[in-house]
Amino acid sequence: MNYISTRGAGIGERHTFSDILLGGLAKDGGLYLPNEYPKVSADELARWRALPYADLAFEILRKFSDDIPDEDLRELTRRTYTAQVYCNVRDEENAAQITPLKTLGVEGGAPLSLLELSNGPTLAFKDMAMQLLGNLFEYTLAKHGQTLNILGATSGDTGSAAEYAMRGKKGIRVFMLSPHKKMSAFQTAQMYSLQDPNIFNIAIEGVFDDCQDIVKAVSNDHAFKAQQKIGTVNSINWARVVAQVVYYFKGYFAATKSNDERVSFTVPSGNFGNVCAGHIARMMGLPVEKLVVATNENDVLDEFFRTGIYRVRKSSETYHTSSPSMDISKASNFERFVFDLLGRDPKRVLQLFRDVEEKGGFDLQASGDFARVQEFGFVSGRSSHDDRVDTIRDVFEQYDTMIDTHTADGVKVAREHLQAGIPMIVLETAQPIKFGETIREALEREPERPAAFSGIEDLPQRFEVLGNDAERVKAFVAERTR
Ligand SMILES: *Cc1c(COP(=O)(O)O)cnc(C)c1O
Repeated sequence: MNYISTRGAGIGERHTFSDILLGGLAKDGGLYLPNEYPKVSADELARWRALPYADLAFEILRKFSDDIPDEDLRELTRRTYTAQVYCNVRDEENAAQITPLKTLGVEGGAPLSLLELSNGPTLAFKDMAMQLLGNLFEYTLAKHGQTLNILGATSGDTGSAAEYAMRGKKGIRVFMLSPHKKMSAFQTAQMYSLQDPNIFNIAIEGVFDDCQDIVKAVSNDHAFKAQQKIGTVNSINWARVVAQVVYYFKGYFAATKSNDERVSFTVPSGNFGNVCAGHIARMMGLPVEKLVVATNENDVLDEFFRTGIYRVRKSSETYHTSSPSMDISKASNFERFVFDLLGRDPKRVLQLFRDVEEKGGFDLQASGDFARVQEFGFVSGRSSHDDRVDTIRDVFEQYDTMIDTHTADGVKVAREHLQAGIPMIVLETAQPIKFGETIREALEREPERPAAFSGIEDLPQRFEVLGNDAERVKAFVAERTR
């Protein structure tokens, strides 16, 4: 398997899975993709149906990472996907499944289900990939005798998923910036209560955008970055995307009895990382009917899938919503899909994403490329605060199931795309406790709290407050990496 950039740099060069694992963008600013998608045969699909999650993950990942010896990869996936790691299940009986499928009921002539992806240590789907990344990073760094200092900014989900994945890992430190006193008490406690010596929580006196700007400023100091071995774990990381492919297969097997059936998935989307994995699963041959992209008020992606116009927003035009993990101004993984949509033509991708930088977007309606979107199964919809409150209430009343705000956006949009005879699977991206304020608004009761999190707000917290200043952050990092 060789990896190429969506913008065409380095054609003819060799990039293995391990080569791109620790990096971010390709050197031309593009995103890495395999030179071709591995195909799953009918025999393989039949055999995979019965596999436990960890072994299914092994079978899928080995098609993308042929430079890691099979026995090592199998050990890594078995260590990652255990009932001990994904232990925050709502129903104990499901613990071994890692991503249980919960059927709500029949709507529109087919089962409507939730694929539970948020039973991991931080109660959001990002744990599904990040836990594997932690083990892969540790493995690869040890092999090459290297170390890595991860620098990131978070408003909640990504930062805590990264910290829980990297805690205690050899050769890795995490420096995570978050806006001082701006996160919920629960999310703050999740991150700041970690006492591992390789995890550094830095509370910046500013807002989330300030944190992100500091990360950019530090990353643009190439000398510092190289000297301090700074890396990131953001959503464009290829290994994160490919790890997410696994649960589309797992969800398909849980929702069907035979491989002649088709299913649709609805995916609450922000940076397009999660649904990009669904696209890849489909390209590998998984029988997927529709991939439904659900957005919130920040509807960059819904606009594209309705009109063919991709128009990124300024950060001042980005709304702060009650499904905050989908509050994006542009979708950083979208370029991977555009590459496939345009028949893998890197020159055109380069031009289009130059247009994004220079003109704020592009229009594929006029060129006729947009017509091909349906060949890839994509449709979309958007949800507002009122929609999500109504949906949380409705799902609770009808099905006795409490869902979080992001999943509610998914259910709302899924209901607009039901087809008789085709099971609809909504990806559950977080547990309700993470977004308790909206649960209280919708249901006038407290969100469900997994047992492991009782009293987490009272634990001692470990964090450092720093001013909104990139130089201070650099000095902090440098002192701790000596
Ligand atoms: C990150 C996140 C999303 C968006 O996922 P993308 O891969 O960025 O599209 C949706 N819901 C929750 C709860 C998240 O944490």
